[in-house]
Amino acid sequence: MIPFLDLKAQYHGIKREIDEAVGRVLESSQFILGAEVKAFEEEFASFCGSRFSIAVNSGTSALHLAFLAMGIGPGDEVITTPFTFVATVAAIRYTGATPVFVDIDPLSYTIDVNRVEEAITERTKAIVPVHLYGHPADMDPLFEIARRRRIRLVEDAAQAHGAEYKGRRMGSIGDIGCFSFYPGKNLGAYGEGGAIVTDDASFDRTIRMLRDWGQERRYHHVLKGFNYRMDGMQGAILRVKLKYLPQWTEARREHAAEYTRLLAESGIATPARMPYANPVHHVYPILVPDRDEFQKNLQAAGIQTGIHYPVPVHLLEAHRDLGYGRGDFPVAEKVAGQELSLPLYPELTAAQIETVAGEALACSKYQPSAV
Ligand SMILES: *Cc1c(COP(=O)(O)O)cnc(C)c1O
Repeated sequence: MIPFLDLKAQYHGIKREIDEAVGRVLESSQFILGAEVKAFEEEFASFCGSRFSIAVNSGTSALHLAFLAMGIGPGDEVITTPFTFVATVAAIRYTGATPVFVDIDPLSYTIDVNRVEEAITERTKAIVPVHLYGHPADMDPLFEIARRRRIRLVEDAAQAHGAEYKGRRMGSIGDIGCFSFYPGKNLGAYGEGGAIVTDDASFDRTIRMLRDWGQERRYHHVLKGFNYRMDGMQGAILRVKLKYLPQWTEARREHAAEYTRLLAESGIATPARMPYANPVHHVYPILVPDRDEFQKNLQAAGIQTGIHYPVPVHLLEAHRDLGYGRGDFPVAEKVAGQELSLPLYPELTAAQIETVAGEALACSKYQPSAV
């Protein structure tokens, strides 16, 4: 059996350090924020190449606070893609603003930069590229549009810790970058977690207040804030794991390259790597025309896979009120219908990768020819 993800194997590799870090927090009784979270914020800002980092309790909270700090609210529009995890869109809607969708690029699966400008209106306040699967969106054209049209750029880097665009780390290029430390992410906590990075001191100050009840100092609440603080335990755990992230990312890159090599002649669409990008392969997405059959056959061969994501956000029942329908974003709809994520994590062995690729090749023989 080859699982889709093996968080236990990773824990066993770093158990002594993790247990020691957790023990430290228990002894200090700094269960919320505290010294470990503060140290993690500094280390994570430096990892991303940003001046500031604010740790919060989820990636969704990070996005929500980024939008609030920019003053985004009812009547405003925020541009993003419908091919993302629902949280990107939910966080926009928490503020009362309206998400406006732009289709994805068929190669990078990230926002199609050639279609952004036509979606901008006088109400547009921000563009939110999602670095889906750990592959960066094309930031230079987005940055140029944002500056010229005086709108903000918020990176949803929840799947892209350490990924690079022309040598710069994701999260550090837009006005604000948002990260998730959900356990399955490339840098995962042992519970919920997230962070915001920015170079802007005023965003840093506002977001720091908003995550902790809008306090300027204790019991002096100047903003209508939230309880979005990170746990001390997660801060201590993430500090341990951040040290290993570069080597884990290297392993992901090697595994992804090996899959791509083994599947090269198969007719299966393997993920592209754009010339500007050094991705971190949060998942390894292939496209197969008869995805559900393919997945069932792999499952029968003992290989677990995932689907990210079967329904694009514009077709989700929860967001039907936005007024979009089938056919509005053909590229997103096609990829959503064919995407299958193969197991990809640092601890995979060469033999496991060969087994997965071999079974995938066998399954592809029974597929209708690719479109
Ligand atoms: C995981 C994820 C989020 C949300 O992060 P949580 O920590 O689960 O709240 C947002 N956007 C994307 C693209 C994600 O993958």
